[in-house]
Amino acid sequence: MQINDYLGEELEHIKKAGLWRQMEVAEDLPSAARIVIEGRQMINLCSNNYLGLAGHPEVKKAACQAIERWGASATASSLMAGHTELHRRLEEKISEFKKTQGALTFSSGYLANLGIISALVGPGDVVFSDRLNHASIVDGIILSRAILKRYRHNDVGHLEKLLREESKKGKGENKNKDKKMREDDKERGGAGSKNKCKDKNNNIRLIVTDTVFSMDGDIAPLPEIVSLAREYDCLLMVDEAHATGVLGPGGRGGVEHFGLEGQVAIQMGTLSKALGAQGGYVTGSKQLIDYLINKSRPFIYTTSLTPSMAEAALKALQIIDKDSSFRNKLWQNVNYFRDAIVEAGFDTGPSQTQIIPIIIGQPDKAIEFSRLVYQEDIFARAIRPPTVPKDKARIRVSLTAGHTQADLEKVVQVFAKTGRKLRLV
Ligand SMILES: *Cc1c(COP(=O)(O)O)cnc(C)c1O
Repeated sequence: MQINDYLGEELEHIKKAGLWRQMEVAEDLPSAARIVIEGRQMINLCSNNYLGLAGHPEVKKAACQAIERWGASATASSLMAGHTELHRRLEEKISEFKKTQGALTFSSGYLANLGIISALVGPGDVVFSDRLNHASIVDGIILSRAILKRYRHNDVGHLEKLLREESKKGKGENKNKDKKMREDDKERGGAGSKNKCKDKNNNIRLIVTDTVFSMDGDIAPLPEIVSLAREYDCLLMVDEAHATGVLGPGGRGGVEHFGLEGQVAIQMGTLSKALGAQGGYVTGSKQLIDYLINKSRPFIYTTSLTPSMAEAALKALQIIDKDSSFRNKLWQNVNYFRDAIVEAGFDTGPSQTQIIPIIIGQPDKAIEFSRLVYQEDIFARAIRPPTVPKDKARIRVSLTAGHTQADLEKVVQVFAKTGRKLRLV
């Protein structure tokens, strides 16, 4: 078979379904709120630079100084020579910020999820995962070969039902089914079996949820999930990617937002959104960190985080600690924009945060909406299946502290006009 025949056929299917994806070239990113494409400067509604820290003078200076001192690359994996003083200082800062015993950095948030989940659970173990969790969580579970039980989005009743069913299961059922896989797994040095939170068959049970969901912008009911994890003796892991720097009185994330410090065993997040740098982290007990250093393949077998990004993230955390003005401005923008866009007749779904979906429905209509607002210098991308459910194609707006009141007023006005044109409002 000719590779291009095969690929061409697949690509035709994608095009026919209206799901063709392509990248736009950003010619400049002058601020969190601006992007230049095809020579035109536009209002950017697609950035995760929520606090604008990627362009903060102190963050940029920290990154530049780190490059001057350490060079452009870590040049080795963490367990070889890639774990620098900068990594150590950042990890200390993360655990202080999150009020935990230790932290570990990964080259990206995606790799953090892959690395945490695949190290903690293995064949025969069960992971209870919110249906709308980020793809990197899903991929981590697939890599682990644990059993995936998806519960309906933010539905603690459904989660409890699945937990109850699982705890009633016949003795050894999962274990026997996956014995062979478990043996294979030992050979490749995967998840061991010396862990707490196991059922009577020695299988580990893990509940995992985003705290802020990346496509709907709603917040997980964490207090209820924490109670269920305790009641059913499960490990609990949260993904704070969109919540770090944003939620909670100190910007420490969803766990702080709900006052649940000390009650979530595994917290991960990214350095690449509100922190304006790049990389991922996990934070928790000293044992968790030691375990991952020894067991997590996406940590072990890759070059460590670029030193300049460690330094940039450290500076961003220091800024977040001493200056809440960026976070306050972000929330002011969120509250204004959500009210105004709902007032204009749009459906923003369950959004409670800086991620505000404008639900449109059919993929082609979402694309058309995006194209029309583009003509008015607003960059807002359509999100289509399989990233979101079939009839829930949308424009995904993410706001930053860098957007001005005038920006938001223009967006509301152009969206309202476009919505009327496409008969959405
Ligand atoms: C973006 C994101 C990640 C991945 O983080 P990167 O640092 O961009 O790889 C993980 N989880 C969630 C919920 C995310 O939104």
